[in-house]
Amino acid sequence: MQQKQKRLSHEELIALRGLRLPAVALKRLKAAQIFASPAISIERHSTRREYILRAEESGGSTADIGAYCGFVGMDGTPLPSLQRAQSVGVNGPHAIVVASRLARVQMFRTENMCELLITCHELKPVEYQEKPVLKNRILFHGSNAVLPPNPESLPSFLNRAGEPQEIPAQFSEAIVRTSRGLSCRGCRHVHVLESGLTTTTTSTIHVLGRE
Ligand SMILES: [Zn+2]
Repeated sequence: MQQKQKRLSHEELIALRGLRLPAVALKRLKAAQIFASPAISIERHSTRREYILRAEESGGSTADIGAYCGFVGMDGTPLPSLQRAQSVGVNGPHAIVVASRLARVQMFRTENMCELLITCHELKPVEYQEKPVLKNRILFHGSNAVLPPNPESLPSFLNRAGEPQEIPAQFSEAIVRTSRGLSCRGCRHVHVLESGLTTTTTSTIHVLGRE
């Protein structure tokens, strides 16, 4: 049965596609050749005959602008990378992850000011339809924060009324790792995902996040 496409609300759009940066910011990122993709695709795992999520950790920075997008488990714990991503230059794709559910940590920086978006994503079955749909939810969204000089500290965000916004504590480490990529000039590293080749916990091939 074909489901009728409904128009997404602004919040649903951010949850799905990530930060909606102004055109001037996108233009500056493009000019600086910084590519940080928040895209998450649904892929079919033919052996397991099930659908999984696929995403790429990517991004980097120059002196005055940066963007970085990383992925962790829904509880903020690191995920192992499936493999390194082929990339010709710097500040682009770094590694690929597949999982049945994941959280995305996306940051944008100009000078020492930053914006942070944390969203979670999982597949939900649809009645009478083989392919599931992607369900997305915003866990945190803050802007206009100063990046702390100590890279191990978290930025402090205020809401529109001037009150401190509480960052979900379980994502502290993921934010610190993403911040490192956000300020890494000419980035060629994998800052958020863990190496799938060297950790013993990932020596068995399975779809992560599946219980
Ligand atoms: Zn780096």
